[in-house]
Amino acid sequence: MNGGSAVIVGGGIGGLAAAIGLRRIGWEVTVVERAAVLDDAGAGISLHANGVHALDALGVGEAVRAAARPQYTGGTRVPGGGWLARMDGDALERALGTPIVGIPRAVLHRLLRAALPPGCLVTGAEVTSVDRSEHTRVRVHTGDDVLEADLVVAADGLNSRLRTQLFPHHPGPAYSGSTVLRALTEHPVEPATDFELTWGPGAEFGHIAFVDGRAEWHAVLNSPPGVRYADALAEVRRRFGDWHDPIPALLDATRPDAVLHHDIHELVTPLPAFAAGRIVLLGDAAHAMTPNLGQGACQALEDAVTLAAALATEPTVAAALARYDAERRPRSQSVARAARQAGRMGQQMTHPLGIAVRNLAFRLAPSGATVRTILRHAAWTPPALS
Ligand SMILES: Cc1cc2nc3c(=O)[nH]c(=O)nc-3n(C[C@H](O)[C@H](O)[C@H](O)COP(=O)(O)OP(=O)(O)OC[C@H]3O[C@@H](n4cnc5c(N)ncnc54)[C@H](O)[C@@H]3O)c2cc1C
Repeated sequence: MNGGSAVIVGGGIGGLAAAIGLRRIGWEVTVVERAAVLDDAGAGISLHANGVHALDALGVGEAVRAAARPQYTGGTRVPGGGWLARMDGDALERALGTPIVGIPRAVLHRLLRAALPPGCLVTGAEVTSVDRSEHTRVRVHTGDDVLEADLVVAADGLNSRLRTQLFPHHPGPAYSGSTVLRALTEHPVEPATDFELTWGPGAEFGHIAFVDGRAEWHAVLNSPPGVRYADALAEVRRRFGDWHDPIPALLDATRPDAVLHHDIHELVTPLPAFAAGRIVLLGDAAHAMTPNLGQGACQALEDAVTLAAALATEPTVAAALARYDAERRPRSQSVARAARQAGRMGQQMTHPLGIAVRNLAFRLAPSGATVRTILRHAAWTPPALS
């Protein structure tokens, strides 16, 4: 389908990637973002090969690689420091053409924004509803303004208003049982490995190292929702400060006010469709998942490329959205299930016997098992965008 117009609701990773993809196939795009200022908040993110290849298809892979740190070394440990599994970044690179990369979220956002022309992203505008009574056009209401387009991409995240409008009976996001505290270190710490996860009972500590020697760390805890700490960094120190190196050093390199704290929610009940009429859901709006596989943003990037490819090749919007739904829903929902399962087997596990059996299974697993697990979700070839 040649040249149409789209309003994209949400200027997160998913919305920006969709905007880049649609512009590459010749569509006119407006991204509407409710935040007045994109304040570059957030810690870090790791992108698996599927995310990196999606960025390549969008034409921003090189820029992201140049600003990201390849994750060659690391793995999964226990609080005393022993290894459960080692990551073999070289093997991953050989298998998939790229290692996992680690990048501060703010840098990734900036690179995605830089790939869009001025004026394409409208900030400080909150979409209140979408009117789809007309068959051929769709109207997006933002306060007093109305934007009209051939297609609306709902990339409005976990608490998507448009998802609720389209699927009013869907129960929406559910609390995962885990809460995450995370931060970027203030100065370089140069951890000995690029990436680590450490599992204790009902708790996980991890880090991702960046090109400039700084790192992001995250501490995940089983917790009732809504619990907050007067001094979040002190609480993390209390729980993780005696775990293996470099955990104490990472905490020492963190400013107390840099710690972000979020409860982790996900869409446990899968959506019955990712599209309705001329509205399509993408990213967390469609399939918010727990972060245990580091796949949420990668799946959003896959969505963006798949949507653009479908619109470029199918004769109508309806046909393109049907294809997008068929290609994206089963895959992203199966990754979401796997992420939930990974959380239960990893960070959330508390029973000593279960932990002992899991740890033994990890230690006895043949070399290459970690790589094969990662390949299961990261092996994905993007469709070409002409
Ligand atoms: C702790 C944690 C760690 C993670 N680590 C990784 C990782 O390492 N790798 C990975 O791939 N994924 C990771 N993820 C998942 C990843 O962060 C998300 O999947 C991804 O950011 C989702 O992007 P999105 O654009 O769909 O949604 P969002 O980033 O939530 O963007 C939605 C945007 O829409 C805007 N918006 C909402 N409503 C409206 C409205 N009505 N009008 C206008 N604008 C609106 C919001 O302001 C926001 O900017 C992690 C998630 C968490 C919680």
